[in-house]
Amino acid sequence: MSTHKKIPKKTRLAVYEKCNHRCAYCGCDLKYEDMQVDHIKSVYANNDASHTMTEEEMYSEKNLLPACRQCNFYKSYGNLESFREALTSTLMRNLQKTFQYRLAIKYGLIQEHIEPVQFYFEKIGVKID
Ligand SMILES: [Zn+2]
Repeated sequence: MSTHKKIPKKTRLAVYEKCNHRCAYCGCDLKYEDMQVDHIKSVYANNDASHTMTEEEMYSEKNLLPACRQCNFYKSYGNLESFREALTSTLMRNLQKTFQYRLAIKYGLIQEHIEPVQFYFEKIGVKID
Protein backbone atom coordinates (compact mmCIF):
# COMPACT_ATOMS: atom_id res chain seq x y z
CA MET A 1 0.00 0.00 0.00
CA SER A 2 1.05 3.55 -0.23
CA THR A 3 0.94 5.17 3.16
CA HIS A 4 4.24 3.88 4.44
CA LYS A 5 5.94 7.23 4.22
CA LYS A 6 4.69 10.64 3.24
CA ILE A 7 5.30 11.36 -0.41
CA PRO A 8 6.21 14.97 -1.21
CA LYS A 9 3.65 16.96 -3.18
CA LYS A 10 6.15 17.52 -6.00
CA THR A 11 6.54 13.76 -6.44
CA ARG A 12 2.78 13.19 -6.21
CA LEU A 13 2.22 15.73 -8.97
CA ALA A 14 4.86 14.10 -11.17
CA VAL A 15 3.28 10.69 -10.60
CA TYR A 16 -0.13 12.12 -11.51
CA GLU A 17 1.26 13.31 -14.84
CA LYS A 18 2.62 9.87 -15.81
CA CYS A 19 -0.52 8.29 -17.26
CA ASN A 20 -2.72 11.04 -18.71
CA HIS A 21 -4.46 11.56 -15.37
CA ARG A 22 -5.62 7.96 -15.43
CA CYS A 23 -5.06 4.93 -13.25
CA ALA A 24 -1.89 3.20 -14.46
CA TYR A 25 -3.55 -0.19 -14.11
CA CYS A 26 -7.19 -0.13 -15.23
CA GLY A 27 -6.96 3.19 -17.08
CA CYS A 28 -9.98 4.86 -15.46
CA ASP A 29 -10.07 8.65 -15.15
CA LEU A 30 -8.46 9.79 -11.96
CA LYS A 31 -8.88 13.06 -10.12
CA TYR A 32 -5.73 14.24 -8.42
CA GLU A 33 -7.39 14.11 -5.01
CA ASP A 34 -8.53 10.52 -5.58
CA MET A 35 -5.16 9.28 -6.77
CA GLN A 36 -3.29 6.76 -4.70
CA VAL A 37 0.43 6.48 -5.24
CA ASP A 38 1.29 2.86 -5.88
CA HIS A 39 4.71 1.37 -5.35
CA ILE A 40 5.33 -0.82 -8.40
CA LYS A 41 7.65 -2.89 -6.29
CA SER A 42 5.86 -3.10 -3.00
CA VAL A 43 7.47 -1.90 0.18
CA TYR A 44 6.37 -5.06 1.96
CA ALA A 45 7.23 -7.51 -0.80
CA ASN A 46 10.77 -6.26 -0.50
CA ASN A 47 12.19 -8.87 1.82
CA ASP A 48 13.84 -10.82 -0.95
CA ALA A 49 17.37 -11.22 0.31
CA SER A 50 18.90 -11.13 -3.17
CA HIS A 51 18.03 -7.49 -3.67
CA THR A 52 16.77 -5.22 -0.98
CA MET A 53 15.73 -1.88 -2.33
CA THR A 54 17.05 1.16 -0.64
CA GLU A 55 14.51 3.65 0.62
CA GLU A 56 15.68 5.97 -2.13
CA GLU A 57 14.86 3.38 -4.82
CA MET A 58 11.57 2.57 -3.14
CA TYR A 59 10.39 6.17 -3.22
CA SER A 60 11.96 7.16 -6.50
CA GLU A 61 9.49 8.31 -9.14
CA LYS A 62 10.44 5.29 -11.23
CA ASN A 63 8.88 2.99 -8.67
CA LEU A 64 5.66 4.99 -8.37
CA LEU A 65 2.51 4.92 -10.47
CA PRO A 66 -0.88 6.60 -10.11
CA ALA A 67 -3.59 4.17 -9.09
CA CYS A 68 -7.29 4.29 -8.34
CA ARG A 69 -8.45 3.07 -4.97
CA GLN A 70 -9.73 -0.26 -6.33
CA CYS A 71 -6.56 -1.22 -8.16
CA ASN A 72 -4.35 -0.11 -5.32
CA PHE A 73 -6.44 -2.15 -2.92
CA TYR A 74 -6.46 -5.25 -5.10
CA LYS A 75 -2.77 -5.06 -5.93
CA SER A 76 -2.17 -4.68 -2.25
CA TYR A 77 1.30 -5.88 -1.32
CA GLY A 78 1.85 -7.91 -4.46
CA ASN A 79 4.12 -7.17 -7.33
CA LEU A 80 3.08 -6.44 -10.90
CA GLU A 81 3.01 -10.03 -12.10
CA SER A 82 1.14 -11.40 -9.11
CA PHE A 83 -1.43 -8.60 -9.54
CA ARG A 84 -1.82 -9.41 -13.24
CA GLU A 85 -2.23 -13.09 -12.41
CA ALA A 86 -4.69 -12.44 -9.57
CA LEU A 87 -7.03 -10.53 -11.90
CA THR A 88 -7.52 -13.48 -14.24
CA SER A 89 -7.31 -16.27 -11.67
CA THR A 90 -8.34 -15.40 -8.11
CA LEU A 91 -10.70 -12.59 -9.03
CA MET A 92 -12.43 -14.54 -11.80
CA ARG A 93 -12.67 -17.74 -9.77
CA ASN A 94 -14.34 -15.87 -6.95
CA LEU A 95 -16.77 -14.21 -9.33
CA GLN A 96 -17.59 -17.48 -11.08
CA LYS A 97 -18.60 -19.02 -7.76
CA THR A 98 -21.45 -16.62 -7.30
CA PHE A 99 -24.97 -17.54 -8.32
CA GLN A 100 -25.62 -14.09 -9.77
CA TYR A 101 -22.56 -14.21 -11.99
CA ARG A 102 -23.39 -17.67 -13.35
CA LEU A 103 -26.96 -16.61 -14.03
CA ALA A 104 -25.82 -13.44 -15.81
CA ILE A 105 -23.53 -15.61 -18.00
CA LYS A 106 -26.45 -17.92 -18.85
CA TYR A 107 -28.53 -15.01 -20.00
CA GLY A 108 -25.70 -13.53 -22.00
CA LEU A 109 -25.63 -10.40 -19.86
CA ILE A 110 -21.93 -10.91 -19.28
CA GLN A 111 -19.37 -12.29 -21.70
CA GLU A 112 -16.04 -13.54 -20.48
CA HIS A 113 -12.81 -12.54 -22.16
CA ILE A 114 -10.27 -14.11 -19.87
CA GLU A 115 -6.84 -13.41 -21.23
CA PRO A 116 -3.69 -11.94 -19.74
CA VAL A 117 -4.33 -8.41 -18.63
CA GLN A 118 -2.40 -5.59 -20.23
CA PHE A 119 -2.18 -2.68 -17.86
CA TYR A 120 -2.98 0.81 -19.06
CA PHE A 121 0.54 2.11 -18.48
CA GLU A 122 1.85 -0.70 -20.71
CA LYS A 123 -0.59 0.19 -23.48
CA ILE A 124 0.58 3.79 -23.49
CA GLY A 125 4.24 2.80 -23.24
CA VAL A 126 5.19 4.21 -19.83
CA LYS A 127 8.58 2.73 -19.01
CA ILE A 128 9.32 1.26 -15.65
CA ASP A 129 12.45 -0.50 -14.41
ZN1 LIG B 1 -7.51 1.37 -11.50
